[in-house]
Parts: sequence; C-alpha cells; structure tokens
Amino acid sequence: MWSEEQLVGWLQECGALLEGHFLLTSGLHSDRYVEKFRLLERPSLVTKVCAEIVRRFTDEPIDAVLGPAVGGIVLAYEVARQLGCRYLFAETEEGQRVLRRGFSISEGERVLLVEDVVTTGGSVKATLELALAHGAQVVGVAILVDRGETPLQLPVRTEVLLRLPLKAYSPEECPLCQKGIPLERRGSKR
Ligand SMILES: [Zn+2]
Repeated sequence: MWSEEQLVGWLQECGALLEGHFLLTSGLHSDRYVEKFRLLERPSLVTKVCAEIVRRFTDEPIDAVLGPAVGGIVLAYEVARQLGCRYLFAETEEGQRVLRRGFSISEGERVLLVEDVVTTGGSVKATLELALAHGAQVVGVAILVDRGETPLQLPVRTEVLLRLPLKAYSPEECPLCQKGIPLERRGSKR
C-alpha cells in the first residue's frame, strides 16, 4: 500500500524533512528543507520509493532510466534494477547537462527520467532536453518530491510521489531574518 502520508512519515523518520531557516539555491529563504540524502542513504527506503515509481509506469516498456547527478543516480539505478533495464546519469559541465563516461542513448530508445527533489524544475527540464536531443522517446518523468509553489509542468507524462509546496521568502521579506534566526546554507551549490 502506498500513500503520500507514508512517504512523509519515512522522510520525517530518517531526518530528511528539516525545519529551521535555510538559504535555497535560488537565493530565497525558507523555513523548511528536504535533505534528500537522509533518504537516499537508506537502501531499504530507496527500494520502497522506487517500487512505487516502477508501479506507476508498469504499462510502459522502458529501455533505460536516466537521472541527473547526484541524487538521480541513486534513484535511476534502483528503478532500473527493479525494471531489469539499463540506467545512466547526466552530469553538469559548464552549466550544461551532458552525458559523459561513454553513456549514450540510441534513437527511439524508451527512456524514463527520475529525479529526487525539484523546486523550479531546472535540472529535470535540462535532463529532459538532453534526452530528447539524443533522440530518446521519453516515456515520462518520475519525481520524488515537488517543492514548487505551483506544480511542475512538463511536456511529457509526469508522476510526482509527493507535493510539498515551498514557502520561500526574499531575504528582505524573510520573517525568520527579522527574528534574527541564523541562516543555514544547504544544497550542492555552496
Ligand atoms: Zn531569512
């Protein structure tokens, strides 16, 4: 059985849902943060979450699973393992999403994209463009948590396991700054 409440429970249990005062990659401040690696460091939870992604795409033949590094590597691997197909990951090089390490996508290959946490969706959009540029037939995008204020809109089938709309403030309007609560930097772009 699967429910959003259950996923929230797992995220809370493993310490992935943080409360405080956080500086987001966008430069905005928020009182909540999803530290996805608290979930990704637990293979048993990753297995359960990926089983739900697999379940949602059972009606689609899939040749390969593609995820953006770093978190997407873990999810893409596990989804591919359960599907019994290939997986690959996209990396960032000079601001562009690229395939390195000899990874390739053949024309017409049926590819599923997976991503852990999206806020603006920039990374997943760039990875989608990359797959399409390689001639992939993208069967869909699976997202663990969508933190966007408005749901992410993509031109392909999109399955979001959990929506946790973000309340974000500009530094000037941030109520946490006004209370003098110390700001924490999180995320990959330190
Ligand atoms: Zn603030």
